[in-house]
Amino acid sequence: MIIYTHQDCHKKFNGFNHPERKERLESILDSIKYIKDIKIEIKDAPKASLEVIDYVHPRKYIEQLFSKIPKVGLVGVEKEPYADTLLCPQSKEAILRACGSGIAAADDLIKFNKKIFCAVRPPGHHAETVRANGFCFINNIAVTARYLQKKYSVGKIAIIDFDVHHGNGTQEIFYKDPSIAYGSIHEFPLFPGTGAENETGVGNIFNAPIQAGTNGRDFINILNQKVLRKIDKFKPEIILISAGFDAHTRDPLAHINVESEDYYEMTKNIADLVNIHCKGKMISFLEGGYDLVALEEALKNI
Ligand SMILES: [Zn+2]
Repeated sequence: MIIYTHQDCHKKFNGFNHPERKERLESILDSIKYIKDIKIEIKDAPKASLEVIDYVHPRKYIEQLFSKIPKVGLVGVEKEPYADTLLCPQSKEAILRACGSGIAAADDLIKFNKKIFCAVRPPGHHAETVRANGFCFINNIAVTARYLQKKYSVGKIAIIDFDVHHGNGTQEIFYKDPSIAYGSIHEFPLFPGTGAENETGVGNIFNAPIQAGTNGRDFINILNQKVLRKIDKFKPEIILISAGFDAHTRDPLAHINVESEDYYEMTKNIADLVNIHCKGKMISFLEGGYDLVALEEALKNI
């Protein structure tokens, strides 16, 4: 297994008491040390180039975003009530490394067919084409999907999102694109408010909204029936995962009761699909997950 990460991703600061904090990455990198049976290679994420980011986000959007980065302190980029998507002086490096991890992972994936995990922040799945949202600025997984298609002529790609929040950004970017399937299980209603079952794109969007209080067993069954079965029929060449661990019962931002062992079963089911259709080609991206103990426990099972 290859893990991409970078010190610059630790430097993104959102203020004290903000859930999206550097300790999340520290927990993950700590827990990786306990994974015994798999050989893990940790690599530094490069910075993504603006040319590649432009496959998804117009240059003007990125330039405007970076022009708002403050010399000191924090600047919000969203209007109320979402004023907690913040830029700090070190944001540019973290954002470019987070996106660049996916690009380097894509190059490795084509060469080595290995499973790759991008342990980076800021996350990406709430970032829309021209809108930062929900702690996200660039949609890391979307840029990676487009890069795989443009550079390596990959045809069909599936994105599976088991973060407890709906990936409104990923859905918006690929809503009319039959070459990308997007399947998401998420608490509903909850931030960001999208992800109803009748949002189906051009038959390529598979939303599985679940109620607050759902337990791990039901979470796995619903994911299998409403997302993985449809991805199986779609027959993707590569599967990308928006891996958020905030459906965990300990997470402070949601109300779903997935346990650490459930993540093991869930990722095993996804890995089966990857082996059937994709010759083992899979990249996972860290999205949410805000309880440090839960993050560490969930990661040990992957
Ligand atoms: Zn989330």
